Amino acid sequence: MIDLRSDTVTRPTAAMRAAMAAAEVGDDVIDVDPTVDRLQRMTAELLGKEAALFVPSGTMSNQVAVRLHCRAGDELLCEAGCHIFHYEQGGFAQLSGVVARTLPGQHGKLRLADFEGQVHPDNEHLVRTRLVTLENTHNRGAGCVQPYDDVVAICQWAHAHGLRTHLDGARLFNAVVASGIAADTWASHFDTVSVCFSKGLGAPVGSAVVGDRALIGEARRHRKLLGGGMRQAGIIAAGALHALQFHRQRLALDHAHAQILAQAIRQTRGTRLVPDTVETNIVIFEVDASLGTAAVFAAALKMHGVWMLAIGPRLLRAVTHLDVTEDDAITAARLIPDVADQLARGQLQVRDVEPSY
Ligand SMILES: *Cc1c(COP(=O)(O)O)cnc(C)c1O
Repeated sequence: MIDLRSDTVTRPTAAMRAAMAAAEVGDDVIDVDPTVDRLQRMTAELLGKEAALFVPSGTMSNQVAVRLHCRAGDELLCEAGCHIFHYEQGGFAQLSGVVARTLPGQHGKLRLADFEGQVHPDNEHLVRTRLVTLENTHNRGAGCVQPYDDVVAICQWAHAHGLRTHLDGARLFNAVVASGIAADTWASHFDTVSVCFSKGLGAPVGSAVVGDRALIGEARRHRKLLGGGMRQAGIIAAGALHALQFHRQRLALDHAHAQILAQAIRQTRGTRLVPDTVETNIVIFEVDASLGTAAVFAAALKMHGVWMLAIGPRLLRAVTHLDVTEDDAITAARLIPDVADQLARGQLQVRDVEPSY
């Protein structure tokens, strides 16, 4: 099975497992685990910040960041399809009493004009606008890279208005490879940045949140509250450290493989890329009603050994990653027009399937 559902499905490589097995460990809750400490230092340095905190998931790193910047009754501004709003159960509200105001982007991209006039005045009727979050690359925006100049303008505007800024950089290293702009350059505009080791970098577990020393000291308290204090976490941190050292540059391969899929979709009748460009490792496309629903299309592909996700009634998502070879991408790309053709002719019997989005 060629599994294109997500870049989270990767298995640790033999070298990564060896690094994990050999990891030096300590109790990172009582004091320090030396491997976690190394990972945190390397992550902070790569992102040009004073400190980093290792956490179990990207969701936790985002929620820790929300708690760092906002109190109950505060408001954050974010893009309508972003992970923090769309895929974290409204954790900002459930866990921290924070309200989100969503701004509709262009396939996940926001511009300064979208923010202007959005800060509430100081008035006892209103929540306090406190935080701007951006996502780079943008998951539901088909892995698009935020335009750098817009990011700079939005963050400058936010700080000028007394707001804090957080970057959900679950796939920041994809943005780095695609844009040629260094991670610390992207990060320099934000108070905190979250990065994931378990997406394209291919580690089994973990994310980090980075910022200045005082913020990350406070983040450690929030992590403990949320149940994210982990003891001999060096075992998993070693996988993340290995990923950070050896799997960043190779993301360019994932991007090339995504282009192979994109080209096939462009040449397939009844399918359309959304948006029409693919910038990194996520490919989102729409299927015409004549081919059935996205769930039917996904089920038909799966019968032939290629696994994608239906993420809407007509939308499918394919993500390339460490465990997808060029041959796999070519195989999947050949299958797309074949399956579309068979569905259009009614030659493929696919039982009605439950959508999963
Ligand atoms: C996956 C993802 C997260 C959350 O990561 P988990 O480890 O699954 O909790 C956050 N933001 C974005 C953009 C993601 O794609």
